Amino acid sequence: MKLRTILLFGAPGAGKGTQGKILGTIPNFFHFACGDAFRNLTIENEIGRIFIDYSSRGQLVPEETTIRLWKQSIEGSRRVGRYNPQKDTLVLDGIPRNATQAQIMSETLDVVAVFHLKCSNLDQLVERMQRRALRENRLDDANMEIIQARLETYERETKSVLDYYGTDLVHFIDSSQTPTNVLRAILDVIAALPPAQACSADAGLLPV
Ligand code: ADP
Repeated sequence: MKLRTILLFGAPGAGKGTQGKILGTIPNFFHFACGDAFRNLTIENEIGRIFIDYSSRGQLVPEETTIRLWKQSIEGSRRVGRYNPQKDTLVLDGIPRNATQAQIMSETLDVVAVFHLKCSNLDQLVERMQRRALRENRLDDANMEIIQARLETYERETKSVLDYYGTDLVHFIDSSQTPTNVLRAILDVIAALPPAQACSADAGLLPV
């Protein structure tokens, strides 16, 4: 049995984190933000060092490392009872981010909806990133060259991920709206999804 999953997809600064955190407070939803998991690591940690190396250049962390972190984090949350794969819908924010990750994760995930938070106003994205740079201690948001590199990485990977999931699963959401209206648009889709099936007892046991 695979893990029932909703994906939040969108450019840096599009508001995935804001929406993901809110969705994660709803009973039976569990929010996992890949960037937060990386940022929670320390420099003593091998994955933490790899993360700093790539993110400081605006690049994606290599597949093997990213998937390892994801599995370890989800399995850790399951073990301590924060995430219950039999009842909870996973809200994934920032992963999968390219078609290779989507392909690898397809063994584990039952993706029921993909929300593409789309912001056509580039200035608005950049402004949001620069505003959170100091507040959230995100050095990758402070430098214009790195912001540019991250936006380019996103543009390059976007189409392949959306193609991978196909038009039936992908819902476009205008993320230049207020957070309340973005949330309403997302909840309208979630409310119309078929209810979660009861999962088997061994659902979600990830080989780490
Ligand atoms: P944003 O969506 O604003 O770019 P995130 O917090 O999701 O920010 O990611 C910050 C950085 O963490 C990325 O630039 C990248 O280096 C790394 N990262 C996060 N998620 C992934 C992923 N799925 N694959 C590879 N690298 C990732």
